[in-house]
Amino acid sequence: MLGHSHAMSGLAAGAATLPWAGQVGVAGPVEQLAWVAAWGGFAMLPDLDQGGIHWRGAMPSSTGSTVARMWGPVTTTLASAVGKLAGGHRQGTHDLLLAPAIFGLLTALAAHNTYASMAVIALGIGLALQALHVVIPGRVEQTVIGNVVISALGAWWVTGTANHALEWLPWAVAGGVVVHILGDWLTVGGVPVPLTWVGGHSVRLSAGLFKTGAKTEHVVATMFAVAAVVGIVAFTPLQGYLAPVIDPVMTSAPLSP
Ligand SMILES: [Zn+2]
Repeated sequence: MLGHSHAMSGLAAGAATLPWAGQVGVAGPVEQLAWVAAWGGFAMLPDLDQGGIHWRGAMPSSTGSTVARMWGPVTTTLASAVGKLAGGHRQGTHDLLLAPAIFGLLTALAAHNTYASMAVIALGIGLALQALHVVIPGRVEQTVIGNVVISALGAWWVTGTANHALEWLPWAVAGGVVVHILGDWLTVGGVPVPLTWVGGHSVRLSAGLFKTGAKTEHVVATMFAVAAVVGIVAFTPLQGYLAPVIDPVMTSAPLSP
């Protein structure tokens, strides 16, 4: 799946899980929206296994997935390291058992160190900005410098002002990763059967519904985007603001044919 489709499915899943988000520490409408945005962003994380620096003469350029290109050389270098460690693209980081557990655990561990915690939060903000780029005016958040600056300032602000340590973050990371893997499972390329990638010859699991980037994928992504909006309206205080608009429409609908 394309980064954009992963983001939309992540946003939809984040919105759908809002009724349970309170149980992992999500408090208040701002954190509810952060929860949904984090799911959307981290749903692109597993493709951190695909990227590298491509040399055109003496000019280096970043290639690979959305997350790999996000912060230029920083994320591309990280992506090529992760790709090697995970046995290539759509291998270890797409293991439905290991990947959510490891990414979630790393996020939980990062919370114990100020700088590691800021780095994870910045990555989350950067990815969330990418996920939400369709509703953000302009393209600043999609440029390397723009994204780095906003994400770094955001992480600094969140670490300085949050009165508790975003204990829900590892859950949003693990959840986003699960959604990503399920999304890739739908495609022809599929995902590895858990643990089989370790030896270098993974057995594949695939629903084979469509090829990455096919028209069907765009239709599915649009449906997820609509579901995300419906979920946010239904499960956050936004509903209170929209009720005066929605209620008259609902009550004036004919009850019998
Ligand atoms: Zn993927």
